[in-house]
Amino acid sequence: MPSTLFEKVWNAHTVRRLANGQTQLFIGLHLIHEVTTPQAFDMLRARGWKVRFPDRTVATVDHIVPTRDQQRPFLDVMAEDMLSALERNCREAGVPLYDLASGAQGIVHVIGPELGLTQPGMTIACGDSHTSTHGAFGAIAFGIGTSQVRDVLASQCLAIEPLKVRRITVNGPLARGVYAKDVILEIIRRLGVNGGVGYAYEYSGDAIARMSMDERMTICNMSIEGGARVGYINPDATTFDYLRGRTFAPQGDGFERACEWWRSMASDPDAKYDDEVVIDAAAIRPTVTWGINPGQSVYVDEAIPTAHDPLGNSQASIAEALKFMGLDGGAGIIGTRIDVAFIGSCTNGRLSDLREAARIVRGKHVAPHVTAMVVPGSQPVRAAAEREGLDRVFIDAGFDWRGAGCSMCLAMNPDRLEGNQVCASSSNRNFKGRQGSPTGRTLLMSPAMVAAAAVAGKIVDVREFTNGD
Ligand code: SF4
Repeated sequence: MPSTLFEKVWNAHTVRRLANGQTQLFIGLHLIHEVTTPQAFDMLRARGWKVRFPDRTVATVDHIVPTRDQQRPFLDVMAEDMLSALERNCREAGVPLYDLASGAQGIVHVIGPELGLTQPGMTIACGDSHTSTHGAFGAIAFGIGTSQVRDVLASQCLAIEPLKVRRITVNGPLARGVYAKDVILEIIRRLGVNGGVGYAYEYSGDAIARMSMDERMTICNMSIEGGARVGYINPDATTFDYLRGRTFAPQGDGFERACEWWRSMASDPDAKYDDEVVIDAAAIRPTVTWGINPGQSVYVDEAIPTAHDPLGNSQASIAEALKFMGLDGGAGIIGTRIDVAFIGSCTNGRLSDLREAARIVRGKHVAPHVTAMVVPGSQPVRAAAEREGLDRVFIDAGFDWRGAGCSMCLAMNPDRLEGNQVCASSSNRNFKGRQGSPTGRTLLMSPAMVAAAAVAGKIVDVREFTNGD
C-alpha cells in the first residue's frame, strides 16, 4: 500500500492500539526543558518510578534564561529554582543537560537539529507547542503537556489519537523580500488557525524543495499555529547534507545506510491524502499580522480588514482584535509605529535569519524611539554569527546583542514588553499578553521585515529596503 511519511513513521512506532481509539506510540527522542518538567519529575518520584530511557532524553534551558546577565544565581528566584530543579533531575536520572556552560545551550527546537539529534523517520516529543519544528527533517514531532511529559519520562511512550494528513503543495518562485515566514503566515491565513485541527500537515512542492533546512524549520514550526498537531517535510538531499557530520548523526558508512532508510520513509509518490491544498508561492507578498492570532495577517501593502474578512474571521473577532491592537480597519498596516523590534525565537532565531536581518540593517541605524534586540536561538548560532561579524553589524546599528534563549517570544524572563508597546517580532504568537505586558501588542513578520521596521521606526515594505543592494 502506498503510504505517507506520517503513516510509515506512525506504524513503525506503534506499540499497540488502545481500546479508547488512541495509539500507544514509542517516542524515539524526548527533548526536555526547565518549564514543563519539574512537576513531571516530581510525579515520577512520588510513584518511585525512574526515567525509562535516559539515553533517549536530552535537556536544555531556554524559556527562563536571562539573555543579558546570565550569572548564577539568576536574579529571578523562580527562574533560578526552575533551572536548579532541572539540573538536579537530570543529574539523578542520568539525562544529558546542555546548560549555559556547555557551549551548545539554546532553544530546544534549535539545538535538537544542530546537534543532529533530530533525524528523519523519528518520533519526537517535547513539552512545548512548537515541537512541530522538528518535522522539517521528516520526523513526526509532538508538543505535549506536563502529564504527557511524565508519561514519556516513565515509559518512553505517548497515548495519542491518529491524525489525518493534509498535503500542502507550495509551487513557484518566492518573490524578492518574501521568506519562509511569509509562506507559513499565508498558509495559516488561508486555512485558518483551526484549519489544521485533527491533521498532520505535509508540506511539499518545488518552493519547499528549494528551501534550506532553516527555512523548512520556520515552516514546520508554525504548523501548530494553524491548528495542526504536527507538520513535516519529506527528507531529501538538503536534509542529509544538513545532518552529515553533526554530533549525534550516524557517522561513516552508517550515515549512508541511514540515508537509505530515511529516503524509504518519505511519502510514496502515489500516497493518498485526506485533503490537498495548493498554494502559488509567486503570489505571496511580505506579510504582517494585524490582530491577536497568527491567522490575522495582511500583505504589507494591503489594508487591515474592516467588518467583513473574506478569509474567515468573524466580525466580532475582527472588532476585538482591532480594539486591542489600536488599529483602524481599512487603513494600511504600513506606517504603523513600533516601539520594540525583536529578532529571535525558535521560528526565526537561526543563523540564516540573522544574516538576512544584518543585510537589511548594515550601515543603517535603529530609529531613536525603538528598542531593538537580536537574540540568537542557541550558543552555536551566536558563536557562528560572531565569527561572521554579524554582532558588530547589529551593535553598530543600535541593536542589543544578547545571549541565547526564548527571550521576548513569551517573556518568561526579563525580556518583556511594557505597557501597550508595539513590537515588530520574528516570533510565532501574537496572542494578548504573549510578550509579557497584558496590553502589549505584537506584529509578527519575517526577521528581514523586523529589521526594516527597527530602522524605519514603523512598519515598512522590506522590498524597498532591499532595492539597490
Ligand atoms: S522561542 Fe517561543 S515558541 Fe519557541 S520554544 Fe521558546 S517560548 Fe516556545
